Amino acid sequence: SEELLRKSEKLAVVGELAAGVAHEIRNPLTSLKGFIQLLKEGKHNQMYFDIIESELERLSEIVDGFLLLGKPNPAKKAYSHVSEMLQHVMKLLEGQALLHHVTVQYSIDEQLPPLYCDENQLKQVFINIIKNAIEAMPNGGILRIEAKQRLDSILICITDEGCGIPKERMATLGEPFYSTKEKGTGLGLMVSFKIVEAHGGKMNIYSEEGKGTTVCLLFPIFSKQEG
Ligand code: ADP
Ligand code: MG
Repeated sequence: SEELLRKSEKLAVVGELAAGVAHEIRNPLTSLKGFIQLLKEGKHNQMYFDIIESELERLSEIVDGFLLLGKPNPAKKAYSHVSEMLQHVMKLLEGQALLHHVTVQYSIDEQLPPLYCDENQLKQVFINIIKNAIEAMPNGGILRIEAKQRLDSILICITDEGCGIPKERMATLGEPFYSTKEKGTGLGLMVSFKIVEAHGGKMNIYSEEGKGTTVCLLFPIFSKQEG
């Protein structure tokens, strides 16, 4: 019946949300693990403690966010700068990049206009994509992070020199639980596609097996909310 259908749809949404939250928790945990590993190896740096502290704060924010999920309109939009969001995200992932011998190259236009967005959600997207890029280069390589204006949009491209994605797998990207990693969740891209879509943006993935991958994000500068 219609009632049953509505209920099962609701359950599916709840399941997806729970999975998404579990995935969000995994990112700060991975980052924490990376920094604790560095400290264990004797690479002491006061900054690592600051990052560990901010990751723990993020975890508690996520748990708070989970409690708020039942309420409508969870997105908190405001004007935020892409360059600042990327800088913050890279601080969090620096330890992981170091561990993987990944060198980061930046080409970020500092004059970009702000985006009307949910900063935490967008940071989550950047983390998911950059983590994938780092994980695709287990033997190190170059990670390129570019951000520039293109007409009325901001274009952000993340490029790695990693394993790449086989052609026949490209259509599977973004499907929940598709993962080629031993400890993967296969939720990062799904969550990212959803967040990007909710911001009126687009996410395109270009990849060549054995060569590398580029993920491009395109966000409109003037949001609908603004009229
Ligand atoms: P997870 O990282 O947990 O596996 P994701 O949704 O983030 O889940 O990614 C799904 C799959 O897409 C990955 O397991 C991997 O096979 C592929 N993938 C995503 N990004 C890249 C990349 N930059 N290079 C190679 N493969 C990638
Ligand atoms: Mg991932």
